Amino acid sequence: MSDCIFCRIVAGQIPATKVFEDEDVVAFRDIHPQAALHVLIIPKKHIATLFDVVPEEDQAVLGKMLALAPRIASENGSADGFRTIINTGRLGGQEVYHLHIHVVGGQAMPAMLK
Ligand code: IMP
Repeated sequence: MSDCIFCRIVAGQIPATKVFEDEDVVAFRDIHPQAALHVLIIPKKHIATLFDVVPEEDQAVLGKMLALAPRIASENGSADGFRTIINTGRLGGQEVYHLHIHVVGGQAMPAMLK
């Protein structure tokens, strides 16, 4: 059994509230939501961080993940806008070392990095 919690979600070994799934990616609700909408989009393949998105096929999956974000937002009550976040590595505050895009919305987002 994988040590990676998101690989275990992909494998169906631990429960998740999925909002989208296809052959390459899964999107599911964050267990500790930071906003009215908080979904994580992950690749099914284990890719640890954004630093590791080097092979062309992994770049293609990352593009697919990003392009999925507006659909996830629109279909889940955040058609007026949303924020995407990718925390990367220790200084980026990454806690789970399986690449993921946070999609947060459903409410006005506080200004950040302006
Ligand atoms: P990071 O800091 O970008 O790595 O964020 C990891 C996110 O994964 C956090 O927002 C956690 O709440 C979320 N998370 C951790 N375990 C689970 C789980 O089992 N299901 C859903 N979300 C999780």
